[in-house]
Amino acid sequence: MTIYNFSAGPATMPDPVIVQIKADLPSYKNSGMSVMEISHRSALFDDIINQAQQDLRDLLQIPDNYSVLFFQGGGTLQFTAAPLNLATKYHRIGLLDSGHWADRAGDEASRVNVKVDVLASTKDDKYTHLPEMPDLKQNTYDYVHICTNNTIEGTAYTKLPDTGDTELVGDMSSNFMGQQYNVKDFGAIMAGAQKNLGIAGLTIVIVRNDLIGKAQNLPSMLDYELFAKKNSMFNTPPVFAIYAAGLVLKWLKEQGGVAEMERRNRKKSNLLYDFLDESKMFTAPVVKADRSLVNVPFVTGNKDLDAKLISEATEQGLLNIKGHRSVGGMRASLYNAMPYEGVEKLVDFLNNFEKNNGGVQ
Ligand SMILES: *Cc1c(COP(=O)(O)O)cnc(C)c1O
Repeated sequence: MTIYNFSAGPATMPDPVIVQIKADLPSYKNSGMSVMEISHRSALFDDIINQAQQDLRDLLQIPDNYSVLFFQGGGTLQFTAAPLNLATKYHRIGLLDSGHWADRAGDEASRVNVKVDVLASTKDDKYTHLPEMPDLKQNTYDYVHICTNNTIEGTAYTKLPDTGDTELVGDMSSNFMGQQYNVKDFGAIMAGAQKNLGIAGLTIVIVRNDLIGKAQNLPSMLDYELFAKKNSMFNTPPVFAIYAAGLVLKWLKEQGGVAEMERRNRKKSNLLYDFLDESKMFTAPVVKADRSLVNVPFVTGNKDLDAKLISEATEQGLLNIKGHRSVGGMRASLYNAMPYEGVEKLVDFLNNFEKNNGGVQ
């Protein structure tokens, strides 16, 4: 039975990447050592990290005046690092509260004594649509933080909010390389790798050079300027995670890049949304204009039915469609590595489930 993994993260990876990892074990490039065992100061690893960085630059057309940095600590540590590095003038940031991860970012910024103004929130509507950016009369914020794709609630920005002269900082963890954005529209971008770019343990930061180097006495492990100077090797970087991301990037290039990924993600998510919108049993709670291309929450409104569905789906090889506890119901994550056939199989399954459980509401 083919298994399709709809997990929100860590998430499914491209089959050819898994095959390549297996082939590279136990002896990477005939070195007699696996990637898990090589020094980060070796020529072997230099090639890996430099190639990964170049492929990121090519795929996202990252302008030369931006640095590409590799951190550990997940998206979550960047909720601390971004304000420490970037909120140096006003010590104040604006936040569009679009869901759990935006809220978490605000919380962590507050913990390092940066004032956080929630500019708009859709919490009262259970985050089923995106907040609207108010007019910023004048710039009194170091930046405005947004979460480009709300992994839990299933919303995503297609058009970015207009922040005028104020820098925009984007948490792109769950739609990084899965939807097209212009890097130059952002002062900084952060993204954990384990959703669309590989395995846990690696976080990408893309930051415009003129914004860094303004903070004093930062902890070294959070210092953008230091990481830029040291090619992300101030200390031992997550060697295996960078290697795995490198393979995913190579795969992305072969597949046609981010534009092609967005096209496929649109096609996959449309298939599922169209079914859900037609269905009498299921509802997709997010308003159409704001729907995510990669995280699709849906509900029946009946907990027992949800539990039955999740258990039957699992038996049929459709794994990890249980929704986040804050939304309930189900969620299917359709990241870059999820093939169209996986979504077809899911829709077939849901269709049959609805027919077989027709009377139950
Ligand atoms: C998963 C996720 C995070 C948190 O990532 P960690 O690596 O667990 O710290 C942050 N933001 C978004 C949008 C996410 O999807």
